[in-house]
Amino acid sequence: MIYNDASAINFQDPLPSAVDVVIIGAGIIGISTAWYLSNNGISVLVCDKGRVAGEQSSRNWGWIRQQGRDPAELPIAIDSINTWQSLSLDLDEDIGFTRQGVLFLAANESQLAQYENWLGHAAQHQLDTRMLTRNEVNTLFKDKPLDCVGGIYTPSDGRAEPFKAVPALARTVRKQGGLIRENCAVRSLDMQGGKVYGVVTESGTVRTSSVVCASGAWASLFMANLGINLPQLTVRATVARTVPAENVFDGAASLGEVTIRRRQDGGYTVASSGTNEHYIGADSFRHMMKFMPALKASSRFIKLRLGGDVVTRLLPTRHWQDDEVTPFEKTRVLNPAPSKTALARMRKDLDKRLPKLASAPFAQAWAGMIDVMPDVVPVMDEVAEYPGFYLATGFSGHGFGIGPGAGRVMADMVMGKPSAHDLYRFRLSRFFDGTKMRPGPGL
Ligand SMILES: Cc1cc2nc3c(=O)[nH]c(=O)nc-3n(C[C@H](O)[C@H](O)[C@H](O)COP(=O)(O)OP(=O)(O)OC[C@H]3O[C@@H](n4cnc5c(N)ncnc54)[C@H](O)[C@@H]3O)c2cc1C
Repeated sequence: MIYNDASAINFQDPLPSAVDVVIIGAGIIGISTAWYLSNNGISVLVCDKGRVAGEQSSRNWGWIRQQGRDPAELPIAIDSINTWQSLSLDLDEDIGFTRQGVLFLAANESQLAQYENWLGHAAQHQLDTRMLTRNEVNTLFKDKPLDCVGGIYTPSDGRAEPFKAVPALARTVRKQGGLIRENCAVRSLDMQGGKVYGVVTESGTVRTSSVVCASGAWASLFMANLGINLPQLTVRATVARTVPAENVFDGAASLGEVTIRRRQDGGYTVASSGTNEHYIGADSFRHMMKFMPALKASSRFIKLRLGGDVVTRLLPTRHWQDDEVTPFEKTRVLNPAPSKTALARMRKDLDKRLPKLASAPFAQAWAGMIDVMPDVVPVMDEVAEYPGFYLATGFSGHGFGIGPGAGRVMADMVMGKPSAHDLYRFRLSRFFDGTKMRPGPGL
C-alpha cells in the first residue's frame, strides 16, 4: 500500500498563531523530529503540502538497514533501528517491525571483496554482520539454489511497513500535543532582525523561532527561493508488491538484479537495482560536476532519461512571492508512474532467481522520487545564512531506516543539545567550501 489517495485528508489541525518549532514536510524525517520534540515538551507544527507519508516515506521498500552504511551514518543507523524496535513496542499500532536480517548476494569475487572491506566498520560497532559462503546463502533461501559466490549478511537488520509506520508515529505526535496539518504548503520563511521569525504558509503565517525543512525531493526548490543552491537531484524508482506467497526468505535481500523484502501481509516488495532513472533537467546541468563521481560509481544502477515534462524541468520556477501559489501547492503528492520496463525486468529476474515466487503475481506497482545528494549522505545542519532554520534532507534512498535516528539528531540540534554523533560529514557547507564530492565506503 502507498498513500496515493490525494483526496483523503487525515490530519487537519488548526493553524496556530505561534509555536516553538515548525517542521516542513510530514515524511519520516519531519515526523520523527516532531516526535522527539513533542516528547520533550516543545510545541510543534508539522505542515505538509500533501499527505503524511504521501511521498517517499510510504513508497519505499521498508528496509531498515545498518549493513553497508557510510561509516559516518552507521552510529545513527544503529540508534535508529533500536528506536524502531522500541517504537514497535510502545506505539499503540502495529508497524510491522521485525529483525529478520538483510542479505546482499555477491555475483563475483570482486564484489565479495568489496563487501569484506566493509566488515571493519561493522566490527567497530559490534554489529553481527558476517560473510556467507554460497552454501550458507542457500540454506537461508527456501528455493532453487542461487547462483552466487557468497554474500554479506546482518541478521539484526530489520524491516517495517512504511505505510503503517509513519502515519502511526504521526498519530503519536498528536497524542503528545503536536499539531499536523496536511494540504498546507510552507511558501517561505519570515525573517526579522536577521533570524527566523515565522513561516508563511498557504493558510496564513505562523510565528516561530525555529524551522526544520524536511521536505525530501522538494528541498532544493525551497532553498532556491532562499537563494541557496542545494545540489540535490531526484531519481525515479519503481516498486511492486506480490500477492501473499510462499515464504522463501523472511528478511530483505539484494539478489543482484532484483531485490525482495518479505511483507507483513505475506507478499514480497520487489524492486530492481538497475532501473532507477534520472530525468535530465536544468538541475542536472547546474549540479553536473558535483554529481560526476556518484554517477560514475552508480552508472549500472541509474539511467539518464529525456522525456516527461521537459519544459517544467528545464525552466523550473525557482522564485516566488509569499502571496503567490507556489509549485508545492501545484503538486500536492508527487506520484510518478511506475516504469513498465522496470516492472517487466523485475518480473523476469524474480522468476529466474526464485521460481517459487513465479506464481505470485504483482498486486500493485508504484514509483517514488528519491532525493539524492552528490556524496550519497544527507544534510543535517543549521543554515548559517538563516539562523533558526535547519535542513534535514537528501537521505539518498535510505532515509526510512535511519529516520528515527535522524529525527533525534535534528531535535537535539533545534533544542541546542550536543549530538551524540559526529555530524561533520552532514554539514551544508561541504557543497560550497571546495570539499570533493565522493560517495563514502558504504555498500
Ligand atoms: C522507491 C523507494 C524505495 C526506497 N527504499 C528505502 C528503504 O528500503 N529503506 C530506506 O531506509 N529508505 C528507502 N528509501 C528512501 C526513503 O524512503 C527516503 O529517504 C525517506 O522516506 C525520506 O524521508 P523524508 O521525510 O526526507 O522525505 P519524504 O518522505 O519525501 O517527505 C517529504 C514531505 O515534504 C512535503 N513537502 C515538500 N515541500 C513542502 C513544502 N514547501 N511545504 C510543506 N510540505 C512540503 C512533501 O509533500 C512530502 O510529504 C526509498 C525511497 C524510494 C522512493
